[in-house]
Amino acid sequence: MLNARSKMDADVEFETQALGGKDLAYLAPLSLQEAEDMKAAHPEFQFFAGGTILNWRAAPRAKGLIDLKNLALDEIDVTPESLAIGAMVTIQELTEYPGIPKAVSSAAGLFSSRNVRNMATVGGTAAGRFFVSDLLPVFLAYRADVKYFLGKKMSTLPLSQWLQARSGILCSIVIRQLDRNVAFRQEKISKIDFPLIVTAVGWKKAGTQIKEAVVAISGASGKMALSESGAACLEGKDVSVIESSMVNAAVQQDLQPTESIKASSRVKRRIVESQLKGIIAELQKEGAL
Ligand SMILES: Cc1cc2nc3c(=O)[nH]c(=O)nc-3n(C[C@H](O)[C@H](O)[C@H](O)COP(=O)(O)OP(=O)(O)OC[C@H]3O[C@@H](n4cnc5c(N)ncnc54)[C@H](O)[C@@H]3O)c2cc1C
Repeated sequence: MLNARSKMDADVEFETQALGGKDLAYLAPLSLQEAEDMKAAHPEFQFFAGGTILNWRAAPRAKGLIDLKNLALDEIDVTPESLAIGAMVTIQELTEYPGIPKAVSSAAGLFSSRNVRNMATVGGTAAGRFFVSDLLPVFLAYRADVKYFLGKKMSTLPLSQWLQARSGILCSIVIRQLDRNVAFRQEKISKIDFPLIVTAVGWKKAGTQIKEAVVAISGASGKMALSESGAACLEGKDVSVIESSMVNAAVQQDLQPTESIKASSRVKRRIVESQLKGIIAELQKEGAL
């Protein structure tokens, strides 16, 4: 009789052989707890969602895969108050599902190709540590939460905090503040390329005043950036009097753009400036309605 641990090891061996002797193990847990136990037993294995990053030539080769496909993480739940997007929901599904906020479905629609959108998942976008993201700035501008499984239990954290350690199994992204005004801009070199810079701004309105502003930027450096100076500059202002030049001056203080083969840090700063101009104008127009 095998105990749980040795049974898992036996499964790994079986799957390895089943893959034609290639040096890659494959596990498909049936519960979150089982997935967590498998990861604990094989820390060098990777959770497997859509596989776009894991199959990418630039990604480090995984020793084994723990497939998240059987964990019922592929549902979208929209109510008038909130939106919960399961980690295994694909980016393409986000573009098509009824009731998804326009900023979210539009950002999803800008992913590099339909092939990628059909495979890539929302969980992989947040957990995958890719160097740039279409969706994360928009989720951050909505002040989304993450539900994740860690240490035998489900927990919730603001996405901004969860991204700092990206621990556990991401189960869903939850937007509870659907009444926020959110707009974003994306810049890329060619239609089928990764995005170069994505900037999103979100706020709530109390009367005509801005509350709980967020300015989120992806692609300026390798990390998601939240501009606290940009948010502080917007906080408490009347929507009609904001000037994008003021917001830009504040945001630029927080940015530390890195040079890349596609754009110098100076060009990246100019892109953010023009994106902020478009976003602020759009949100002011929305606010005036
Ligand atoms: C060719 C290509 C084109 C791309 N184009 C774009 C683009 O246009 N716009 C854009 O924003 N991004 C783009 N990306 C990045 C994109 O965000 C990811 O490829 C995709 O969303 C990752 O999802 P996935 O399901 O494929 O992740 P996978 O490749 O399956 O996994 C990636 C990593 O995340 C971990 N992981 C996945 N799901 C979970 C979970 N639920 N809990 C914990 N850990 C998890 C895995 O262990 C792995 O380490 C592109 C990537 C590639 C390779």
